[in-house]
Amino acid sequence: MRAIGDTDNVQQTSVTSTQALLSRAERVIPGATQTVSKGPSQWVQGVAPVFADHAQGPYLWDVEGRRYFDLPMALGPIILGHAHPAVADAIRAQLDGGITFTLPHPLETIVAEQIVSLVPGAEMVRFAKSGSDATSAAVRAARAITERDRIAFSGYHGWHDWHIGATSRPRGVPAAVRELTHPFAFNDLESLDAVLDRHPDQFAAIVLEPAGVHEPTSEFLGGLKERARAHGALLIFDEVITGFRLALGGAQERYGVQADLLCFGKALSNGMPLSAIVGPERFMSVFEQDVFFSGTHGGEVLSLAACAATLRVMIEEDVHTQLWRRGEALLSAINTSARRHGLGDAVAATGAAPRSVVSVAEPQPTEGQLARTFIQQELARRGVLFNGSNFMSHMHSDEDIDQIADAYDEALEALAGLWPDGIAQALAGPVLAPVFRAP
Ligand code: PMP
Repeated sequence: MRAIGDTDNVQQTSVTSTQALLSRAERVIPGATQTVSKGPSQWVQGVAPVFADHAQGPYLWDVEGRRYFDLPMALGPIILGHAHPAVADAIRAQLDGGITFTLPHPLETIVAEQIVSLVPGAEMVRFAKSGSDATSAAVRAARAITERDRIAFSGYHGWHDWHIGATSRPRGVPAAVRELTHPFAFNDLESLDAVLDRHPDQFAAIVLEPAGVHEPTSEFLGGLKERARAHGALLIFDEVITGFRLALGGAQERYGVQADLLCFGKALSNGMPLSAIVGPERFMSVFEQDVFFSGTHGGEVLSLAACAATLRVMIEEDVHTQLWRRGEALLSAINTSARRHGLGDAVAATGAAPRSVVSVAEPQPTEGQLARTFIQQELARRGVLFNGSNFMSHMHSDEDIDQIADAYDEALEALAGLWPDGIAQALAGPVLAPVFRAP
């Protein structure tokens, strides 16, 4: 195994294996990926890796044997670290007893009870496979409960029609669905008011990520509840990222606010496909009645076994204290470097420390994401994966954070040397495409 800093790590991607694999993938997989944010449009071709081979702890190895510090962590689910032994053992132990059955399995109840005991306001739980499943189920429940159709939202909530129709990639979503979903700005009650006031008594729910690029102000969180009550809408927290990451009880515990329905995914099961909609019996009981939310794989037990093991490790090892501490060290190191190199107005790490977001204000926005692409290129050359989200895991050690912070410092120093006109010439591959265009 090669270590970070080995000279091989700074070589260009070898044309043979990666390029051949990519050509094969492009022939049989549209976009060569199942997940747009992981695919080739999101990595500087020729420099950053394209295909993962395996991963362990805080590291990912690409198919060419190069080792990287992983910070996107598969877009967030890997909270304990890759291939965590307790989770792997739990999956192996369950595997010989079957994966999914003709009848419900007791693990569904056991894990639901664990979640109820950890999440503020939780009384009942329904499981599914993706975050999109959970948010779509919550929206359907809210529409059924309120007998209204409109949804106000802030953040990303998955690929299903109700949400994606209101983004810059709405193709294929009927106009009748698109016009029911209304975006508002985070930490901005005026923008929410403007949306709600435009269609009085028509909103079923206010759906939002309770933290993202920024943490919420207490005024914003309090105001959300007030607005939901005043307008007769449900408040739905999409905790697909924040859940089990900011605290065992998610954003609700961290910020001391309770929503009406909650959606979880990602960190819930350290990478196994599991999501959950959670809430009080008075709302969750709609799923016993005529709100249909049901899938073949909902009670699949390898994911539930992984979830039980993940929650156990989180409780026993006080994972969140470490995630915050190390996350804050990285966040502040990035901001210190940005300021030291004169990029304090251009590059900022913000948000909740267990998942901080690095934003880049491009010097020439019309040219695309030049600076962001350059940062990714330089970090890749230094053995660090960058997609803008720094997800801490329990296996990122203090020394790892120091090495990653050093890599950021060098990358930002190099960027400062090219700012503002020299960046394009220093790129070894095409500029990264945004997943969604800015509104
Ligand atoms: N909500 C949030 C906040 C998310 O970040 C995501 C995924 N990035 C989703 C929902 C959708 O989850 P999934 O991709 O598992 O469907």
